[in-house]
Amino acid sequence: MPKASVPATSPTVKISPRGATRLKSGHVWVYRSDIVSAEGIAPGAMVTVVDHRGKPFGTALYSSSSQIAIRMISEEAVNDFPSLLRQRIADAIAYRERFVHNTDAYRLVFSEADFLPGLIVDRYNDILSLQIVTQAIDSDLVRDTVLSELTDRLHPASILERVDPRVRELETLPPRTSGLLHGEKTSTTFTMNGIQFHYDALEGQKTGSFLDQRENYFAAAHYAKGEALDVFCYQGGFALHLALRCSQVTGVDSSRPALEIADQNAVLNQQKMHNKEIEWIEANAFDLLKDYSSSDRHYDTIVLDPPAFAKSKRDLEAAMRGYKELNLRALKMLRPGGILVTCSCSYHVSQADFLEMLAAAAIDSHRTLRLLEVRGQSKDHPILLNVPETSYLKCVIAHVSH
Ligand code: SAH
Repeated sequence: MPKASVPATSPTVKISPRGATRLKSGHVWVYRSDIVSAEGIAPGAMVTVVDHRGKPFGTALYSSSSQIAIRMISEEAVNDFPSLLRQRIADAIAYRERFVHNTDAYRLVFSEADFLPGLIVDRYNDILSLQIVTQAIDSDLVRDTVLSELTDRLHPASILERVDPRVRELETLPPRTSGLLHGEKTSTTFTMNGIQFHYDALEGQKTGSFLDQRENYFAAAHYAKGEALDVFCYQGGFALHLALRCSQVTGVDSSRPALEIADQNAVLNQQKMHNKEIEWIEANAFDLLKDYSSSDRHYDTIVLDPPAFAKSKRDLEAAMRGYKELNLRALKMLRPGGILVTCSCSYHVSQADFLEMLAAAAIDSHRTLRLLEVRGQSKDHPILLNVPETSYLKCVIAHVSH
């Protein structure tokens, strides 16, 4: 593949005082509305960012179409982008070696949180799955560098790219299909917390699994007991963990393909679960919870892990109503002493909003809750303290006192 040449000096993008304030607060994005001048700058170019007086802020990657026009990559001038990329990938791997344990599946590179905006790499045992979500990372030079660095360091059986056509459209990138970039293997099994899962790199949602919940699965299993219900169970992440501790587990999801994999996952772990059978129900969770709660069904452990209801700020009110309904019904069904594990992966719903919703649901269901843990995403999805967008998952574990 042709290698693009790296310009010795990058073109300059001037930002407004508001944009500058944002960067001074430790954020790494500048929105298009805060760009003063970016004339003639190529899509995906590496640029020098300066304030309205010309004072430099460092180096960024530019997008000509996203609302996020600037994503900072360094406070300094960057002359050799490929070598910076290689160093950042090495750092991301070292971070996981230090902080991620008991799993061979985890997020290896998490975009801004690993100082590689636009690049996501997930490891599933011997398969790497990557997503490219910005113009800059989509260049041949970057792709080649990322691929060679990942192969040299990790020797995966294969590397696949998962394409989100909507993202490519937003970034005005030419269409591409998901597929192999290296090697031939497209499916494997991975193990987290001692539990095995099937992985098919070209199927499923996200890059195939919900790695961000890995530590929450473990925590949920720690508190779980009795009869358990895993609502929005997907391929059984929580349900399989609960089966280690609970006498009976039911998983509910509206996706038949997800439940089929969940069942195959249960077979993989049959021995560990002492041949316990998990019941999988294909249903709309809202309808099922309504039926179950009004027909006086009771559980000792309920997990709620719905998809993101608030995809944007505009959806927030409707989203909160959705969360409240689910939590209210779950609380009504929990026996005294029971455990609620309730999650939200909507960035727009803050932890405070979520706890407030839960408190209101507790009042309405006449339940008294004690918080056991207020958790977030697993450590392989690092949170950059000054970049709130990197923190999105909430997972509250609560005890129903009475
Ligand atoms: N708990 C899962 C991840 C859940 S993702 C894990 O840890 O792996 C959200 C899931 O909700 C998806 O599997 C999706 O198929 C399912 N879903 C979306 N809307 C639904 C609905 N109305 N009723 C039931 N399931 C739904």
